[in-house]
Amino acid sequence: MKVLKFGGTSVGLPQRMHHVAQLVTADKESKVVVLSAVSGTTNALVEIGELLLKGNKSGATKKIDTLYDKYLDFYKELLSEEESLFKGKEIIDTHFGFIRYLLDSSFSEWKEKELLAQGELLSTKLFYTYLKEIGIKAVLLPALDFMYIDEDGEPDVEYIREKLHERLADNKGNQIFVTQGFICKNAEGLIDNLKRGGSDYSASLIGAALQADEVQIWTDISGMHNNDPRIVEDTFPIAELSFEEAAELAYFGAKILHPSSILPTQKYNVPVHLLNTMQPQAKGTLISSKQNPGAIKAVAAKDGIIAIKIKSSRMLLAYGFLRKIFEIFEKYKTPIDMITTSEVAVSLTIDDDSQLGAILDELKEFGTVQVDEELSIVCIVGDFVSEKKGIIEKVIHSMNDIPLRMVSFGGSKNNISLLIETEKKREALLSLNKGLFHK
Ligand code: ADP
Ligand code: ASP
Ligand code: MG
Repeated sequence: MKVLKFGGTSVGLPQRMHHVAQLVTADKESKVVVLSAVSGTTNALVEIGELLLKGNKSGATKKIDTLYDKYLDFYKELLSEEESLFKGKEIIDTHFGFIRYLLDSSFSEWKEKELLAQGELLSTKLFYTYLKEIGIKAVLLPALDFMYIDEDGEPDVEYIREKLHERLADNKGNQIFVTQGFICKNAEGLIDNLKRGGSDYSASLIGAALQADEVQIWTDISGMHNNDPRIVEDTFPIAELSFEEAAELAYFGAKILHPSSILPTQKYNVPVHLLNTMQPQAKGTLISSKQNPGAIKAVAAKDGIIAIKIKSSRMLLAYGFLRKIFEIFEKYKTPIDMITTSEVAVSLTIDDDSQLGAILDELKEFGTVQVDEELSIVCIVGDFVSEKKGIIEKVIHSMNDIPLRMVSFGGSKNNISLLIETEKKREALLSLNKGLFHK
């Protein structure tokens, strides 16, 4: 069994959906096909939700009309037979009927999640209708029947495994199972999602739950590049990465993968192949447990970082101090990314500011607290054990005169992290590209 995930651009045009149908039917292997929403849809739904939360009904109506028109054009090009055209129109009208119903109901955070789910529901149902039209036998598996997150928002792989096996057993003899990425049910039984870009995470969770032979992430670029291709011009794809290296890159901002999407496949040792839908013959990137030689592999950057410095004379010679600090972050379920200490101060970074006020109030009990925002972590990933020496010098030297707020080296053998001001990020990525990848 393989899991193949196609992102928004891969299903973003009717012709692309036709092409995806060719790719998934090219061999007779059993596969779960995970689809994102048609590109632009989730962004549009987010905007509609924001307008509804503000009570701007006319603004929301306009955006809904524009999105509806886009889908009317889409299905007419996707499908050609009378019966499937009828079905396609029915799918669109049902989902837009629901979206319009939200205009007149009291809008809440949970309705917003249901609104966001419409994108993946539409894309999978339209794709499934197309497969049927061209005579492909397939099963549409509703992700809401098996994709589940617990009260902490964490996916439950055991539950997913159990439910998925039940669904597959109900549909014995089928080879192609189509399902939605991104969407799930939560502990309260409500529709929820795995956060933006979450279809990668869905595919990885399904791959782990089914102990698949491979998870393939099909997107609009030929694999993980050595630097952010949106900022740096001459980037190139990396043929192989270890799970650890890929997980660091995903977590620290390489948009090609959802931040958590490598962890389930890593835990269950399922290789992940990043492939390009527009260039299926390109090698892409293979992510597996294999450690590959090569010291510095790639650079990525994550924005929206907040640095917190706690200065305390009480820290001097006091054991247990760090535990007390960490307990505050644990209490507010806020992960820490980087940390450095001195005899009188602790500096750390977070990217989730939803509980910042409460965290700061408690930290103030320990001493003076300073907060800096609009920071980015630049992360250099590779296999630094095999490098003999000089790696950190090389990295620092490549940063030219860009001020470093914090440096983390040695936390893992795969990562060097640098904290900088976000306005210096572009310069940092370009300088590192020159210093690390061009001799
Ligand atoms: P999808 O819709 O298929 O999930 P995404 O837009 O989420 O696609 O991810 C693919 C995009 O990630 C690429 O088009 C590229 O601009 C961006 N990206 C950022 N960093 C990297 C990187 N290091 N390697 C490859 N792509 C990257
Ligand atoms: N459609 C969702 C998003 O745009 C999930 C995904 O594409 O991975 O965030
Ligand atoms: Mg994505």
